[in-house]
This record gives sequence, structure tokens and C-alpha cells, in this order.
Amino acid sequence: MIHHVPLRPPSHDFPADEWNIVEKRFRPEFLAQLETIMALGNGYLGMRGCPEEGGPNVENATLLNGFYETRPILYAEEAYGFAKTGQTIVNVTDSKIIKLFVDDEPFWLPNANLLSYDRRLNMKSGTLDREILWETPAGKQVLIASRRLVSFANRHVAAISYRVTVLNAPASVVISSEMKADEPSAFTNANDPRQTRVFAGRVLQHRTSYAKDRRIVLCHATEKSRLTLACGTDHALETSCPHAHKVSYTEDFGQVAFTVDTRPDCPIELTKFMVYHTSGTASAEELCGRAEWTLDRMTSQGFQQLLLSQEQYMEDYWRRSDVRVRDVREERTKRSTVEIQQAIRFNLFHILQASARAENAGVPAKGLTGQAYEGHYFWDTEIYLLPFLIYTSPQIAKNLLTFRHKMLSQARARARELGHRGAMFPWRTISGEEASAYYAAGTAQYHINADIMYALRKYVLATGDEAFLRDCGAEMLVETARLWQNLGFYSDAKGGKFCINSVTGPDEYNTVVNNNAYTNLMARENLRYAAETIKSLQATSPDAYNALVHKTALEPAEVEGWMRAAESMYVPYDEKLSIIPQDDSFLDREPWDFRDTPHDHYPLLLFYHPLNIYRKQVIKQADVVLAMFLLGNAFSSEAKKRNFDFYDPLTTGDSSLSSCVEAIVAAQVGDTGKAIRYGIAALLMDLANVGGNVKDGCHIASMGGTWMMLTYGLGGMRDDDGRLSFRPRRAPEDNAILRFPVTYRGQVLEVEIGLEEVEYMLREGTSLLIRHETEEIELTREHPRAVRRLRGK
Ligand code: BGC
Repeated sequence: MIHHVPLRPPSHDFPADEWNIVEKRFRPEFLAQLETIMALGNGYLGMRGCPEEGGPNVENATLLNGFYETRPILYAEEAYGFAKTGQTIVNVTDSKIIKLFVDDEPFWLPNANLLSYDRRLNMKSGTLDREILWETPAGKQVLIASRRLVSFANRHVAAISYRVTVLNAPASVVISSEMKADEPSAFTNANDPRQTRVFAGRVLQHRTSYAKDRRIVLCHATEKSRLTLACGTDHALETSCPHAHKVSYTEDFGQVAFTVDTRPDCPIELTKFMVYHTSGTASAEELCGRAEWTLDRMTSQGFQQLLLSQEQYMEDYWRRSDVRVRDVREERTKRSTVEIQQAIRFNLFHILQASARAENAGVPAKGLTGQAYEGHYFWDTEIYLLPFLIYTSPQIAKNLLTFRHKMLSQARARARELGHRGAMFPWRTISGEEASAYYAAGTAQYHINADIMYALRKYVLATGDEAFLRDCGAEMLVETARLWQNLGFYSDAKGGKFCINSVTGPDEYNTVVNNNAYTNLMARENLRYAAETIKSLQATSPDAYNALVHKTALEPAEVEGWMRAAESMYVPYDEKLSIIPQDDSFLDREPWDFRDTPHDHYPLLLFYHPLNIYRKQVIKQADVVLAMFLLGNAFSSEAKKRNFDFYDPLTTGDSSLSSCVEAIVAAQVGDTGKAIRYGIAALLMDLANVGGNVKDGCHIASMGGTWMMLTYGLGGMRDDDGRLSFRPRRAPEDNAILRFPVTYRGQVLEVEIGLEEVEYMLREGTSLLIRHETEEIELTREHPRAVRRLRGK
């Protein structure tokens, strides 16, 4: 239930525009939100959307995925096995600063006389564009046009094209391009556990700095995590007016100042290239060398070439991923569809920015748009993000699963530490080590093991990448299945069923419970998939099977044990209510008093002691309802409806991961009103600041959830039985046409849901078998198109 959020349409803040998020007026009160919304990134490098001039900022940050510092986690009371080392993403060298002075008058947004202002996140070209007309106190009109990008094609690179033209008078112009490495490393609100931790001292220790002509390189390293960073900038200036430049640098600062004597209407065009190279092994000298190679390449290539590659990347991305809505009503009502289209693209664009070049890394909960959650990777990636990536950018999905495979040895060690067999993936991490300081809502979320295996199965089914399953997946399956087998037991009290006790499900308002239904259901899938995979490997690839046995010391009897545990898995059921209780004690709890909970007391976690929450029937985020979506085939429509009707009123949606799932299941059980309401909340989570904390970064999981809402929810897409099938629904208000592409086994299917009919079109590939409702349809190159009437018409 959405108890507390007034939903504002984005048009309050941003005009409707299909491809851009446009800020028409500089409004300092929205600085922090816009830093997030206008952030650029490529999955490796992220820059918050702060102005070029080095301010004003609220939480300026430049973030590199996986570049973190460690600190001891201090507990007032220690206990065995608590995570010991915290990891926090570091705010690295800010290289994007370009200060402007006209006749020594600084251009500073808050007090500048702005004759016009337009800043836009351009989602078609993957750039942040700004055009400002500034009138100096002396009446000189200065046109400032800038374009910033963080390159998708060159993951170490960002660039700014900064053009200044004094329109109506000669002037003396200084453009000071700067870089700064002593930025505070983190910001926090001690009362909000979702925010990040602050380091006491400085985090980046100086290694070396130097300059060559218009190029500066600053090199720093972290002390404890021993990561080194070389950040370099280089510049090109084009103008027909007389100019000169001066370079200076210190340990933490670099500056190239260009002075230009301009004539009226004579443009000055500065291009700034910024590169970042990091390593845990390479020396400072080597990294500086790498930064210089990249700068050499960029300066010889030029900004236009970089921009072109960005536009091509975006074009390709949208071709594979764009979800389009088209309004068929009259002109006057079309505006809302443009807003919906804008919001959809905003979500999909930020997912790309969070994940595209996350190589040897995961996707932080906030992407690289903010430091909240400390840059940690959670289950958000596998359950909320991977479905979209699997069906649109399978290579990125593979990279993310490969990264999980690389942390398997740490997961094995963690399982041993907790006295388990197999592997236990960390609830939150950057390095692969568990970094959750609060075990009840952290380490106890064993379901992350099953979530990763759920995503693995989806990936393998959708791509047919059996080689990945054989080389990496099977090993993870063995170790995760072992963990479940070891964690659970056959309980006499539950009729000999296989029970899993003392775990926390997705709902963090009910912690350390017995038989969390979500966990048991997902563990069952994990055990079954492990057993199936190992058996098939044994039958079809004896060499690979033998290698796996060698690597994991697998005993044949173990596989039988997994099958037995899966078949005997206890799934709680309440006869009286005909629902699945969230866990063994959930129904014993006293209902939360929603009526007397003030609207401004959400999220509850910021206003009530955990014990007050844990002893009540109140839910932070979809739990049983999430299981019903993920494992849709295991539930009848009636069961879905009964469970949804029971759980929805108890669900606060205090986590942004909830609304999208509630929307999908509401659509499935025919509750269109709720589907729309939740759907809008998820779609506008960040644009309309639904959670009130967009300043801390984008909610990447919810963004992935919006794609699931459109495809699995409205498109009625299903894949949990290993086949691609559709049970599409008409758009809720009977006015829009929805179109989306799906990449399946290297082929691209385009689905268009109209008012009366659905069209399936094989856009790339030779032959694809899908199911519409209960009918099998084969699409081929010769017959690529099939049209069917929508249900209920
Ligand atoms: C949610 C978790 C989620 C985390 C990071 C928490 O508020 O309860 O499910 O993984 O945020 O997004």
C-alpha cells in the first residue's frame, strides 16, 4: 500500500520531452536532486550532475566503480563472525571543473544575471548539454554552451566541450580548467542507515603529480585497500582571438588557465579530456603511463569523434532496449504519454549508465550517481536489473554474473566462517567480502544465494549460453545448493519437511525468522536447478563433469540430497486464510497501527526502534508477493489474488524495491487501480522524488523494476518455465500502444500491444518459437510477423 507519498508528475519540474530531462531555470533549491538526476556515468566512471564551474554543489562526487577504501566496522558489542571490514566507495579526483572569468568577473550561477538557461540530460546522445546567456554587471552578454559526456566506448574517458562567446563587446576572458583531489570522501546523515560512512582523515594519499604542456596528471592511492588512481586531463583550445595559457599543479590540484582577448562574436572553444585509470597491482608510474596513452588517443581523435561514438552507442542501445508508448487519442491528451515516455527512457538510460562498463565489478545500489549505500552491490542486481540486461544487453548480464563467479572463493570462506558447507555470497559488498554491519538485516539474508542462481538460470535460458553454465554456473550451483542443504534440516515438528530457520527474507522489517516463504521457495529452485544441471552435465559433457567434481569434490550422493531437500521443502500455508504466511511467526504478530502512524513517519526505519517494527505485522517491501512474481508458475491466479489482497495493506513500500513488484502482481490479479498507482510510483521514483531521497542517488533496482513492469506486467511476458511466452494486456487507460524489443537467443523479437491486437515481429534472426496465451507461434525470416487479438476483446 502506498501510505505516504504524494505523487507529483514530473512536469512540475521538467517539461514533457521524450528524449531530454530539461531544466529550464536554475533553481538552487533543487541542486542536490539534480546532481543525481543529471549525473553521467558508464558503469565504471560516474560524475554527479554538478555545474562545470566547480559549484555550487551539495554533494559533488566523482565515483569509480569498485574504487573503495576500507575501515574497521566498530561494534559496541562484538560477536563471532560479524563482518569486520567496512568498504566505502571513494570520492575521487574531480576533474571536470572549468571556471570562467570575463573582465575578471567570475561566472557563478547563484548570483549571475541569467538571460537564458537550459540544461538537459540528453538521453539520445548520452550527454549533458547546457546553454546559458549571462549578462555581466558591465552589460556584456556571454553565451556559454557546454556538452559533457562520460564515454561508453572508452570506459576510462570523460570529456567536456566548453564554448564561450562574448556577443556584444570585446572582453578579456579567462577559462581556468582545474582538477582537485582533496574532495571530502563521503557525506552522511548519522540517523539514516541508508547513507554512507565518513572517513575521519583524508582518503587519497598523494603519489605523484606532473604537467606537460596542457596536460596534467595527478596520482593518488588509498592506504588500506591499496588501490591506485591516475587521473589526467588534457586540453585543446580553438579560437581566432589572441590567447595564451599557464599551467600549475600541486599534490592535489592542477590548473590550466587560458587567457583570451576576445572580439565580439568570436567563439572560444575549449575541449577538456579527462581520464581515470585504477589498479590494485600496477605501480603509480605505470598507471600514469596508461593515463597518458589514453590522453594521446583522445587528443588525436578529438571531441567530435568521441561524441560520434557516444551517439552510435546510444543508437544501438535504444534499438535493443527502448520501450515505446504511443498515444492514439486526440492531441490535447497526448502530453501525459510524452511524460511517460520520458520517464521510461530516464529509467532505462540510468540503468545503462550504472552497468554498461561494469567490468570486473557489480552495480552499486545507486549506480555511480551517489554515495549512499557506500557503493555496495546487493541482490538488487540479480533480481531487479539482470532481467532487463539479459533481454537487451546479454553481454553486460554475463559480465555481472562472471563477477559473482569471481567472488566464489570468498563466498566459500565466508560459509566456512559461519560453520556452513558450500558458499555464502555477501549481502553487501564491493570487494567480495561481507560488508554488512547489521547481520539481522544483512548477513541473514541468505536468499541472495538463490537470487544469484535465479538470475543465472534466466540468463542461460534466454541466451542459450551453455558454455557459461558449464564453466562458471555449475560451480556456483554446486556451492549454493550445498549451502541450502547444510543450512536446512528435516523437522519432525513440521512433519519431516525440510525447513530453513533463522534467516531474513527480502522484507527487512521481519528479521531472523523461521521458514521465510520467499527464501524456502527460492532455495527450492536453487536446489532443483543445481541437481538438473549437474545431472545433465554428467550425461552430456563427462569431461566438464569430471573437472567440476575435481574442483568441488562433489559426491554423487549430494545431488540426490538436493533433490530430496527440494521435494520436501516446507512452504508455510495457513488453511484459515488460504494464504502463504511470510514466515512461521508472521501471523502471530499484532498488526501495525497504520491509522495512528503519521504520514511523515515513513520510512518507519527512521522513526521506530527495530524491535517495535519486528514484533508487528508490517512489511518493508514485497516478499511473498515478490515470490509470486518470480515463480509465477507455482501459484494459481486465485492464490495470487488472495495473497496480494492480504499482504498489500501491510506493505509500507519503505523500500523503493517494492512498488514495481506490487504493480506487476496487481496487474496480474486484475487490480488495475493499484497497478497504475504503484506503476507510476515506480516509474517516477526518481524524477518525482517519490522516496524523498533522490539527492542521495538513483534507485537503480526500481529502475530495472520499471522495465519488468512494462514487459512482465503489461506485456504479460513469462519465462519461468524456460519458454518465452506472452499474455499481454491492454494498456490500462485504453489509449496507448506499447512496443518493446526482447533479445532471445541472439534473435530480436519486437512486441507491440495495441488496443485490439498484439503484434509479434521477428526483427533479427531466423526462427523463434514463442507462445501467445496457450498457442505456439513460430516466427521465421519468411514469416516474421504474427498478429493476435488481445484477450477480452
Ligand atoms: C532494501 C534492500 C536493498 C537495499 C539496497 C534496502 O532498503 O531493503 O532490499 O537491497 O535497500 O537497495
